[in-house]
Amino acid sequence: MIKLSDVTMQYPKSTRPALADLTLEIERGEFAFLIGPSGSGKSTFFRLLLKEDTPTSGDVWVGDYHVNKLRGRQVPKLRQSIGAVFQDFRLLQKKNVADNVAFALEVIGKPAGVIREAVPEVLDYVGLSGKADRMPHELSGGEMQRVAIARAIVNRPAVLLADEPTGNLDPETSEEIVEVIDRVNRRGTTVVMATHDRHIVDAMRRRVLEFDGGKLVRNDETGVYGIG
Ligand code: ADP
Ligand code: ADP
Repeated sequence: MIKLSDVTMQYPKSTRPALADLTLEIERGEFAFLIGPSGSGKSTFFRLLLKEDTPTSGDVWVGDYHVNKLRGRQVPKLRQSIGAVFQDFRLLQKKNVADNVAFALEVIGKPAGVIREAVPEVLDYVGLSGKADRMPHELSGGEMQRVAIARAIVNRPAVLLADEPTGNLDPETSEEIVEVIDRVNRRGTTVVMATHDRHIVDAMRRRVLEFDGGKLVRNDETGVYGIG
């Protein structure tokens, strides 16, 4: 589903590459954790998958897309096949919960009837039925992240990228959010989640990709966070 071959990302003016000679494969339906210290290249990895950056050398594939070869007008299609959630939720503060989710479908031109049906369904799926009319500032952090997940999956993307989705949440809420992401994965969506949370990684026993200084230093099929 995701494949990188000899990928190097060298930002201009930077002394060492953000990613160096990275080769890895994540199968369709897998759940992979991305771990490693701050600055090890995790966010760069996500940016390459979304074609927010183009690697200096090497090849990137996501699904059927040869990402580094994509032309500009194909990039929106790639991004539609990838859902993304972040530590800081990135909700639209002036829209309520339902409209935050609906907006993701409106911008890709889905008909109103489809949106009317899909939004309550996905809010129910992430455990937010009854909160459709709330504004983001009226929600707890966990609820905000549920909205972000609903928005990311409502178009049923093949891949969900989660960049430290529990970074702003307490341990109990973090567990609940991981349960939601796990449910999305079990439905067939390939998940890649960057995290510093050892408890989550140790509890889940899924693939662990560990980065250090832009290099892949560990690739365990069912790993733990480790001694790091
Ligand atoms: P992580 O997400 O693991 O914290 P990043 O991918 O953000 O790591 O960063 C990897 C390295 O690339 C760091 O050394 C960072 O300073 C550098 N880097 C990231 N983005 C840029 C950029 N736009 N320009 C220059 N250097 C960057
Ligand atoms: P599970 O296997 O976890 O029970 P299902 O795929 O059976 O999940 O979905 C349960 C309900 O949630 C169904 O009504 C389904 O249509 C809805 N649903 C699941 N994923 C989405 C999604 N991405 N967007 C909208 N509704 C969804």
